[in-house]
Amino acid sequence: MCRLLVVLTLVFSSRVLWCQTKLPAHWEELTAPDFVQAIHQSDGTCLLPFGILEKHGPHLPIGTDLLDVRHAALNAAEQEYAVVFPEYYFGQIFEARHQPGTLAYSSHIQMELLQETTDEMARNGCKKIIIVNGHGGNENLLPYFAQTQLEKEHDYVVYVLGRVETPPGGPKKKTSIDMHAGESETSMMMMTRADLVHMDRANQQSGADQARLHLPENLYTAIWWYARFPNHYSGEGAAATHELGEWKMNGWIKAIVESIRAVKADQTSLQLQNEFFQKAKHPLDTK
Ligand SMILES: [Zn+2]
Repeated sequence: MCRLLVVLTLVFSSRVLWCQTKLPAHWEELTAPDFVQAIHQSDGTCLLPFGILEKHGPHLPIGTDLLDVRHAALNAAEQEYAVVFPEYYFGQIFEARHQPGTLAYSSHIQMELLQETTDEMARNGCKKIIIVNGHGGNENLLPYFAQTQLEKEHDYVVYVLGRVETPPGGPKKKTSIDMHAGESETSMMMMTRADLVHMDRANQQSGADQARLHLPENLYTAIWWYARFPNHYSGEGAAATHELGEWKMNGWIKAIVESIRAVKADQTSLQLQNEFFQKAKHPLDTK
């Protein structure tokens, strides 16, 4: 029998009446038998929304990136079904270790935990894994992790959806420096969890660029962020609006939906990956 309070879909097929319930997208909310159904329904496509725990100015929750990326991924999975992995926040955030509440796992743990997580997802049928990044500090880690998937043979494909550009034409932004807990992120949190935005505290600390390091543009050093934004705050949260948050969040959700559809349709990546692994065993035979 179908349970109450679920969407009932009646499908008449070959004189058999099927009663199909709407499956949750959350991995942890599925029963084990329903998990099998969910993997079939998603064509083995699973999302791994990747957040972080770090200070977000004086006014936003430590879990801002985690809350936002899960809001976006779960809304996308409503539109195009995919299984969504539980809370994951074990990423690169060494630059905020001087601030309260930051969880900065060592670099080898980040890589090993992520590898074991995707391996375990794949062992459970997630043959197409989209890591949806919600944290700017992961923008080097995640493409690097994807590159390392060619190190040894895998029967699954890792895709990374990095920072998504906001679609043009939305509400005009008021601030130019807006990299962390500023106008954009504060606006998005107003969409995700307005009750956790403490707008009255947004000006208690400065999010101004302190410009304490002077190096050529292409010369990288890790302390650049601390040099510019020691409060781990970049921009002005007080400039946030609900309209900007809605525009940005909807643009992000749309990009995730498009990625899920593209990944479901993609039969080429795994085929080429398999061909590559075979050839990599005999490089001297490669023409
Ligand atoms: Zn953030």
